[in-house]
Amino acid sequence: MEFATLLAIAAAGALASPIGGALALCRRPTTLALSIAVGFAGGALLGAFAFEMLPRAAEIASMPVALGGFAAGFACVYALDLVVVHRGITTGDKADQRPRMLRVRQVRRPRGDEVTVLAAGTSAEELIEGLTIGVSAATDPSLGLIVGVAIVIDNASEALSIGDLVREKGGQHQARRILGWTSLIGVSLFVSAMAGWFLLGNLSQPTLGLLLAAGAGAMFYLTMTELVPEAESHQFQQSSAIAAGLGLLVIFALSNLS
Ligand SMILES: [Zn+2]
Repeated sequence: MEFATLLAIAAAGALASPIGGALALCRRPTTLALSIAVGFAGGALLGAFAFEMLPRAAEIASMPVALGGFAAGFACVYALDLVVVHRGITTGDKADQRPRMLRVRQVRRPRGDEVTVLAAGTSAEELIEGLTIGVSAATDPSLGLIVGVAIVIDNASEALSIGDLVREKGGQHQARRILGWTSLIGVSLFVSAMAGWFLLGNLSQPTLGLLLAAGAGAMFYLTMTELVPEAESHQFQQSSAIAAGLGLLVIFALSNLS
């Protein structure tokens, strides 16, 4: 029964990517639609961390484990992002440190084109999301369901962004690039969800609580640094903030149903 729930969630999350990619291929999303989809996903994820994952981690492990786990998950992804992706320095457009970052960047150019960087990064992120789905479902099917819903929404919106970026860049083989990358992302999520269930699912409840909090911290970092800025950059009349508020409320409501 619990495994059936996990299978359904993992399959839905995995399919959401190529489906989102196919949608972007049929009709390039408007910037308004993109801001709403990505903003909604950001709000839904924040709701899943705040209303489900952290409270559950504190309940089955302890408050210090929930706090420490969240910080550790955040720190791991931050370190990887800073060292591997940003080559040791990252700044906002208006930061005083911007000129220094641009000098460093000129010396060390990031690898690959924009699409490859985004899509490969997303595939890697799916490992975290998949493991978190597996751990959530093993902790409690209703938790797995809510985390799964947030990740399904997230994956569909990510695929729209990737599709949009490929179409913006133009060039040949757009269909193959969009469907290839989004399918790889889906496979990555499915495989890691299974790995999370089979490799980590039998751990003790306190350990599952720690992993749950770490997953929330890791995904929180990605939500704040990638999803929210991406959504805001396409917004019209704060469409992304409105959608994020709705996403948060949907997860809050779902979380109180179960
Ligand atoms: Zn995702």
